Amino acid sequence: MQILAKCPGCDAGLPVEPAEATGAIRCGGCGRDIVLTFSDALREDRAVDRCPVCQGGDFYMRKDFDPKIGLTIIIIGASISAVFYWFGRDVMAYGVLGAATLVDLVIYGRLKDLTVCYRCHTEFRGAYTRTAPAFDLHTADVLELEYARKTGKR
Ligand SMILES: [Zn+2]
Ligand SMILES: [Zn+2]
Repeated sequence: MQILAKCPGCDAGLPVEPAEATGAIRCGGCGRDIVLTFSDALREDRAVDRCPVCQGGDFYMRKDFDPKIGLTIIIIGASISAVFYWFGRDVMAYGVLGAATLVDLVIYGRLKDLTVCYRCHTEFRGAYTRTAPAFDLHTADVLELEYARKTGKR
């Protein structure tokens, strides 16, 4: 399993391997020591049951998608489409735009799911069984506030 631990102080992402990691890591951004506690399920890449950073047990699933890539495809598509439009080839213009959207959708559909901790936003990638539900805004609001209070951010 690959974990991207989020620093409670500055939100920097710190990649860790549960199988090799020791008890604590130091954040390269703010120098804060982050204590990591891995459950057996995490070490063995079986399931995400407890967050190593905040010890929370609430997670959600989202697609492992970099919005920048999707946006780039749409922008390139839109530029090509604009050229066709300029030359009065409307049908081609819409075709290119449609194709760009389609490429985005195909990429999106092929993406793997990744698990995210509601409280500290630590990300989990691996072969483990996905059990977390989809993102819920209300849960996120409640748990993020709770975590922010705990870490003294709010
Ligand atoms: Zn930090
Ligand atoms: Zn967490």
